[in-house]
Amino acid sequence: MDVILPGGLWESGQRQRRARFRALDGRVELELAEAVAAAANVPDAVTRLLAAALERLGDGQPTPERVASLCVADRKQLMRLLDARLGGESRWHSARCRKCDAPFDFPLRLSSLPVGEAGEGYPFARVCHAQAEWILRLPNGADQAAVADIEALPRARAVLLGRILVEGPPDSVPHRIEDEAFWSRIETALEAVAPALIERVRATCPECGAENVIEPEPYPLLRRDGSRLLLDVHRLAGYYHWSETDILALPRRRRQRYLDLIDAARGMQS
Ligand SMILES: [Zn+2]
Repeated sequence: MDVILPGGLWESGQRQRRARFRALDGRVELELAEAVAAAANVPDAVTRLLAAALERLGDGQPTPERVASLCVADRKQLMRLLDARLGGESRWHSARCRKCDAPFDFPLRLSSLPVGEAGEGYPFARVCHAQAEWILRLPNGADQAAVADIEALPRARAVLLGRILVEGPPDSVPHRIEDEAFWSRIETALEAVAPALIERVRATCPECGAENVIEPEPYPLLRRDGSRLLLDVHRLAGYYHWSETDILALPRRRRQRYLDLIDAARGMQS
């Protein structure tokens, strides 16, 4: 089934909003684990993971280049949907209470949170400041990867702006890199165009009842390695004596079902 991207891939002046995930079996899950392991930084890991998990993106293949050109909100939303497909549906998130400092866990389905549509002009934003005007493109995964390892903020801003600036007065950018008013206008303009994802939620502390505003971890999937999958293979191989190739070829749901049956059988014996 196709998913509709809140923003969409912008290619040759066209907005492509459809994407489709591959059917999940052990082979695909193993590829996902390997994609994360090979990544240089978080944006790169998201790109590799989505490129491996998708079957189609817009009108074509989900190549890493095309996945990297998706806006940040689209990538986050796809990661939430993929997390749900991989069983993170009722994932527990951890937080620490701002009032009593107690650590607590709360359930949250990131994939079912509402998503606001992209604003007028997507993926471009107009910024007016000091009697001048700039047109910027919303940052995408490639932009995030380009600045991921730059620690100095002015340098990161210069690199980012160099990438997303579409139109503006010549040489208007270098002397504005440290102009905070200019940056806050940029942020406001980009936010107005970007699809709105809910990134902060309220959770009540079970210890003291205080209400906390929590920013859930955006990419819990990146902590997943292949060890759980190999454990599943190990249990099924030991019980049914199937080969690794056959077990990995099972659709994810069917594999889960067999694991449940093994658990049920063990429960009856004890
Ligand atoms: Zn508390």
